[in-house]
Amino acid sequence: MLLTVSIVIAALLGLAFGSFLNVCLTRWPAEESVVKPRSHCRNCTHTLSWWENIPLLGWILLRGRCRECHAAIGVRYPAVELVVAALWAYTAWSFIPTMPGMLFPTPMLAFLIIAAVMQAIFLWLLVCLAVLDTEHLWLPDRLTLPGIGLGLAVFIAQPFALSWISSMVEFPFTANLEGTRFGLWTPFAIHFGAAVLGGILMLLIRWGYQILRGREGLGLGDVKLVAMLGAWLGPQNVLVALVAATVLGMIAAVALIRAARLREQPEGSWAATPLPFGTFLCIGGIVSALWGERIVAAYMSFAGLR
Ligand SMILES: [Zn+2]
Repeated sequence: MLLTVSIVIAALLGLAFGSFLNVCLTRWPAEESVVKPRSHCRNCTHTLSWWENIPLLGWILLRGRCRECHAAIGVRYPAVELVVAALWAYTAWSFIPTMPGMLFPTPMLAFLIIAAVMQAIFLWLLVCLAVLDTEHLWLPDRLTLPGIGLGLAVFIAQPFALSWISSMVEFPFTANLEGTRFGLWTPFAIHFGAAVLGGILMLLIRWGYQILRGREGLGLGDVKLVAMLGAWLGPQNVLVALVAATVLGMIAAVALIRAARLREQPEGSWAATPLPFGTFLCIGGIVSALWGERIVAAYMSFAGLR
């Protein structure tokens, strides 16, 4: 019951924050305010009435067209709302334990809720960056840099919160880091290292590409995005994200070459089409945030390492 309620609340909040994200995604690149004026058609400036503003439902009722001028409203709008809602519902489902007895003592519930909210913010940020890179090949510093800071802050706060709570009440999770080199700072040290190494790795790939091909293949935005993934995911899961992004990027490149051949474009012309690698990195990051541990465990047992 409590689990169902949490999932429904998370999905509804996801729809609302997905809807707000759409406003940001349209107005940030145009350097407009995200609060004023009220939501309107980008074509005829018709101000949307309350029901046209309902996430998902508004778009369906309008059949994807403006009521006044019938200009098409992009599929991106309902898609972003649906994706954020699904990711947040899944986060609630994976964080809130199914056994009601497990929800007490209250500090544990508070800890789980905060952890779930942090994961929700990270996923929201990744959806945001994925769309910006798809539509504008743009990974703004004002998102990636605070993203790095917030990710690291989470792993400073988490072990201290755990050790504080377990000193007060019986707690199933403990921050048992006494024997480790950095004590309670160990998770931060690990995630900080993953952010730095991830960034350095991307810088090396960037330089390598520039030397080999004589032009820029990876932007500095991608470098900062990988540092952000490292800060949130840690060394093992950031590798999962990088591998997933590379596989997705290669599939997209093959699809691009095939499409160019079908349209009988001159040989090699596909190489001029920029691929939004940041989008693949964001999708890889989402996959890794949700299933990273399981993917690593499956790979380990497949490779006979465990
Ligand atoms: Zn219109």
